[in-house]
Amino acid sequence: MTFREKSAALHSVRSANGSTGSSSAASKKPVWEYAPSPEAKDHIEIKPQYDLFINGKWQKAKKYFATVNPATEEKISEAALASKDDVNRAVLSAERAYNKVWSKTPPKERAKYIFRIARIMQEKAREFAVIETMDGGKPIKESKSVDVPLALAHFFYYAGWADKLKYAFPNSAFSPVGVVGQIIPWNFPLLMAAWKIAPALACGNTVVIKSAETTPLTLYKLAEVIQEAGLPEGVVNIISGAGETGAAIVNHPKIQKIAFTGSTEVGKLIMRSVAGTDKKLTLELGGKAANIIFEDAPIDQAVEGIVNGIYFNQGHVCCAGSRLFVQESVKNLVVKKLKHRLRSLRVGDPLDKNTDVGAINSKMQLNKITELVNSGIEEGCSIYQPECELPKRGYFFKPTFFTNVAQSNRIAQEEIFGPVLSVLTFRTPREAIEKANNTQYGLSAGIWTDKGSKIFKMVGAIKAGVVWSNTYNKFNPASPFGGYKESGFGREGGLQGLKEYLKF
Ligand code: ADP
Repeated sequence: MTFREKSAALHSVRSANGSTGSSSAASKKPVWEYAPSPEAKDHIEIKPQYDLFINGKWQKAKKYFATVNPATEEKISEAALASKDDVNRAVLSAERAYNKVWSKTPPKERAKYIFRIARIMQEKAREFAVIETMDGGKPIKESKSVDVPLALAHFFYYAGWADKLKYAFPNSAFSPVGVVGQIIPWNFPLLMAAWKIAPALACGNTVVIKSAETTPLTLYKLAEVIQEAGLPEGVVNIISGAGETGAAIVNHPKIQKIAFTGSTEVGKLIMRSVAGTDKKLTLELGGKAANIIFEDAPIDQAVEGIVNGIYFNQGHVCCAGSRLFVQESVKNLVVKKLKHRLRSLRVGDPLDKNTDVGAINSKMQLNKITELVNSGIEEGCSIYQPECELPKRGYFFKPTFFTNVAQSNRIAQEEIFGPVLSVLTFRTPREAIEKANNTQYGLSAGIWTDKGSKIFKMVGAIKAGVVWSNTYNKFNPASPFGGYKESGFGREGGLQGLKEYLKF
């Protein structure tokens, strides 16, 4: 597009449908529109069909399933549906690789392979980002600036630990666990794979990992990277499939550890299956995090933190700040600023670089969000959605928040996993703590205040694995992440994340 064309596209247009949300203002004031800024996808390589990546080779499955772009509802590719037999093949290949090669590979050699994976991922960062966005619906600016850089940062970080484990755990005797089974969800496919594969390899284990139903593609791209990095055959086996495939991994007798990220419901099923065996288990499950805004907080920053906390990745985030607790004295101000901010969020094509809120990952998830939002309306909560136009095709949902919410309402209790916030209030720190902890979950929380002492008091009292202060949704490979209560147990990231892949 030439500069002249761009300027023409950037001309002020009057919104015919009030698409800015400020309907009265829209009729008087000119409304500036963004020129489209689509990320190119013509040179991205996606095969029409992906086989299973077992023993370092692409192996056929009996059945395949379509993976769809949730923003267009178009089929992108097909992925193998791994059967019980396929899982068995993958596990046996991992076992062979463990016994014959990986357990005998010196730690500093393991490190080199992991570094190599990180570096090749880095070279292909843009391709990974585009595929993640096409397969999952998240805005390209997020996959480019969060998912992919963080994923490869985990490989770099754990590569560094591979030959230093005795310094990580001095005076202890330890060994790798063996063959580990890893099951991941659809909200951060590549990142979750990195969280799991990198520490497993660094500690000397071999891996069978399964992607989620709707997002198999970036894991298969990662399989190509692993091939390119020359990792010995069978050290990482990548398969796709649904719940039955996951269950076959969990129940396989040769799997020595399960690392699962997904719903609390499936986490409970897995815990039951593993009970009575000596398999190690880590579960990273749902959340209903409290994001707490005190009256002395920097309000504008806090509003950005609220937006990042709940609308990042369309709210498909287990640690999303989905319950907002605002101190009563600033409630009206925060709600006013939040409304204003929501009107400027751009919902639409995830591949457009201007998009803030992309597509909901699947029709099923869209139905779940709609059902819970309707329950909020039926239970008498007040809904706010900006007046924005949603694309005609694809699965989209407007950024939404509710006020007049009681703690007992479903929208304040259940994980929605969508761009929907419940606004509640409190008067004192003690009340904020009680309300924040009034949930079955305990994954994360946010605290916004000017007072350091208040931060420390709150952090100690809130039962959540991660508590952010004056920020939200910040991740780093060196920081452990994980939950309490029905959000699961075990930690991923940091030294704690290594521990889960070792036997002491
Ligand atoms: P979500 O609600 O995020 O889709 P799920 O828990 O349903 O969460 O899915 C997370 C992962 O768990 C997916 O890879 C899915 O295929 C897998 N899964 C679903 N059911 C089972 C099961 N019974 N045993 C093992 N894995 C399962």
